[in-house]
Amino acid sequence: MLRPGDTIGILGGGQLARMLCLAAAPLGLRCHVYAPEIDGPAFDVCAFRTVAGYDDEAALARFAASVAVVTYEFENVPAETAAFLAARVPVRPDPAALARTQDRLVEKTFVRDLGLDVPDFAAVDSVADLEAALARLGRPAVLKTRRFGYDGKGQAMIRETTDPADAWAAVGRHPAILEAFVPFVREVSVVAARAVDGSVAEFDLCENVHRDHILAETLLPAAVRPETARKALEAAAKIVTALDYVGVLAVEMFILEEEDGTERVLVNEIAPRVHNSGHWTIEGAVTSQFAQHVRAVAGWPLGSPERLGRIRMLNLVGAQADDWANIAADPRARLHLYGKGEARRGRKMGHVTYVEKD
Ligand code: AMP
Repeated sequence: MLRPGDTIGILGGGQLARMLCLAAAPLGLRCHVYAPEIDGPAFDVCAFRTVAGYDDEAALARFAASVAVVTYEFENVPAETAAFLAARVPVRPDPAALARTQDRLVEKTFVRDLGLDVPDFAAVDSVADLEAALARLGRPAVLKTRRFGYDGKGQAMIRETTDPADAWAAVGRHPAILEAFVPFVREVSVVAARAVDGSVAEFDLCENVHRDHILAETLLPAAVRPETARKALEAAAKIVTALDYVGVLAVEMFILEEEDGTERVLVNEIAPRVHNSGHWTIEGAVTSQFAQHVRAVAGWPLGSPERLGRIRMLNLVGAQADDWANIAADPRARLHLYGKGEARRGRKMGHVTYVEKD
């Protein structure tokens, strides 16, 4: 169990690491941010910093010696980096959880084997595989690279007229999976935490609206039936426990409506880290997802995930952040800007949360 004054190491220097640092400070914990890019938003707010590559063993060894625990803000931490650190200092969540969620084929198989519903899928390593998979799953379908996909990158939609060879080229001819296209009515997510002692705390179900494959808005409560929300929360609890996970993760899901009006929950993806759809918890819950992750990796008890009102969280993507002065003029807008320089298209520059009493 970490004590006040101890240091948490964080791999990655983006806005998620920044908000982890900001949540650790009130608990008397310091953060040491390790990232290859010198201009990471987390470097503005951390106690200690290392700018070095994830393959720099001398820098990693110094980093490991300077912290009581290591965590990360992104799922693509190289397996060798995680293993090198884990041999020297506790890494939470465990690198085994990373290995299960870095590869879509491994992840989908793991989730399905837990008895949870996922879209039908098939492994694709060639155009011939893709043709066979299309014959089985039908069209439309979505081809996704097994690794390194996020915000819709590494994906190709296959419609009635799409040539499989073009789709295979579009994902760079990398090992992939084909998923049946699911006609979902909503996208939702569960942000869940698990402590070292195995206890689990979940935030309420979030409803997510995407634009151009990037999260645009998160709304709570999600417009689903109470039993659907309960099922989604149960699915996430099952996943976080089966992964023997310590920390916060997010499970993204699709909600389908059957002809008889019943709702089905399909698991789309696990993000083994704090998640954009949990940003609302900073002002909208008793404990934020960032404080919760810090508590979990520090070996502390979890805080209450209770929601404090009706929530609307808007991402400020690219030029949307140019409106910051107008947003700041609204006394009820809880504005967060990540301190990034250039508002490039598709870049997450900040977010704003509105909490309304129920
Ligand atoms: P992912 O990278 O897997 O989270 O996918 C990005 C987005 O693509 C999702 O948020 C959905 O909007 C869409 N999508 C992904 N997989 C499917 C699918 N099997 N059926 C329909 N839409 C999908």
